[in-house]
Amino acid sequence: MFSKEESRILRHEFWTSFGKSFPRKWILYDTKIKGFSFKFHFDTKQALVALDLEDDLENRIKYWEKLQSLKTILKEDYLSEAVFEDIKEYLYTPSKIPSTQQNHSIAQTRSFPQKKDVKNLKKLGFKVIKDNLGSMFAVKKSKTKNARKVMLAAHMDEVGFMVKHISSGGYIRFTTLGGWWDQVLLSQRVAIKTRKGDVIGVIGAKPPHLLSPEERNKVVVRKNMYIDIGATSDKDVEKAGVRVGDPIVPVSEFTILANPKTYMCKAFDDRVGCGVVISALSTLKKSHPNTLYGVATVQEEVGVRGATTSVDMVDPDIAIILESDIAGDVPGIKPDESSTKFAGGPSLLLYDARMIPNLKLRDLVIDTAKKNKIPLQFTTMEGGATDGSVIHLHKYGVPTVVLGVPSRHIHSHNSIIHRDDFDYTVKLLKAIIQKLDKKTVQEIKSFR
Ligand SMILES: [Zn+2]
Repeated sequence: MFSKEESRILRHEFWTSFGKSFPRKWILYDTKIKGFSFKFHFDTKQALVALDLEDDLENRIKYWEKLQSLKTILKEDYLSEAVFEDIKEYLYTPSKIPSTQQNHSIAQTRSFPQKKDVKNLKKLGFKVIKDNLGSMFAVKKSKTKNARKVMLAAHMDEVGFMVKHISSGGYIRFTTLGGWWDQVLLSQRVAIKTRKGDVIGVIGAKPPHLLSPEERNKVVVRKNMYIDIGATSDKDVEKAGVRVGDPIVPVSEFTILANPKTYMCKAFDDRVGCGVVISALSTLKKSHPNTLYGVATVQEEVGVRGATTSVDMVDPDIAIILESDIAGDVPGIKPDESSTKFAGGPSLLLYDARMIPNLKLRDLVIDTAKKNKIPLQFTTMEGGATDGSVIHLHKYGVPTVVLGVPSRHIHSHNSIIHRDDFDYTVKLLKAIIQKLDKKTVQEIKSFR
């Protein structure tokens, strides 16, 4: 391990498990390449790779490029490919965008935000509390007298499934938790969250080889699908720990795509929103005029249920919802259907089926984006709603806006986001929060 002093100096670190092949000795690299300094430290069973990085996430890509050149130098010294894969993920994956398949969280389960995010927020002076449905709140009271309450909400649940019936042959019928399109389900891996741990399976249907020509021309509907965990009987399924009512989540690996600023994984709806809230709160200036509530709501995908209870907990003066938006620049969508562009910056939702934003708050968002040179897009969603739908109707009404991070292929195993959109959304959110002093909030709330 590093000495206390070294640990203090090294801001970022992580551990990777290794097999026996790893050399039985301590190696410490302290290398300076073109002005960037790296420190690596390994032991037998685990490798600790510590990188002396700046906190500025924008710089991470530059660091990765430097590391690539470092790789050739260190390769002879048993630095395995696996380590580099981890470094790559570490550098590119903003810790604030929870990403890996370990982070499952649908209506009934919750494993997000990650423990380290909670720990970090606590260190920054936030109190972390929960309500009885499971939504989480990071609260920082303002020192200002009669400060206003600003609620920043994003939902932490993802779309998933639930075990509905186990057949005598050991096949599992399922129901959906949240909106799924039948076409994206077949042959996808899922994990059943049982009391004994995860049980992996695949979504199957009658194989095409055995379908009549008539059947083959039709799309397979969900009720004809099942989950196969490799069991041969219901006893097998029971032995694996699966029970009816168990939640099921998509299995999907976080992947950095060819453009290293694009990330692919499940559940960016709405982990990206949670990430924006956590990032903004963790990097805000120390003093701010409001009492801030960063809220990760549950059960949004099954009908904004977590938002309903959490708005009671907060009783906000103003609310900003952080969501994933649907990127409209994919084949088959006309600009008048959706004009939101991937990598075009955050979007401001002007209309959805259950909420119209407060116009003064809308204008504050537009002006703030302009002033800070943040690209801002506009979006509407006629068939759908967000947590804002119940939050803006709390008590006597709460001025609310929804900001979205453009995302491709949401509600599937593989959604894609662009790093610039994430960073711009964080920047915009922080700038808006700083503007919302008591007077401004009062003005926005007033309809005189
Ligand atoms: Zn969502």
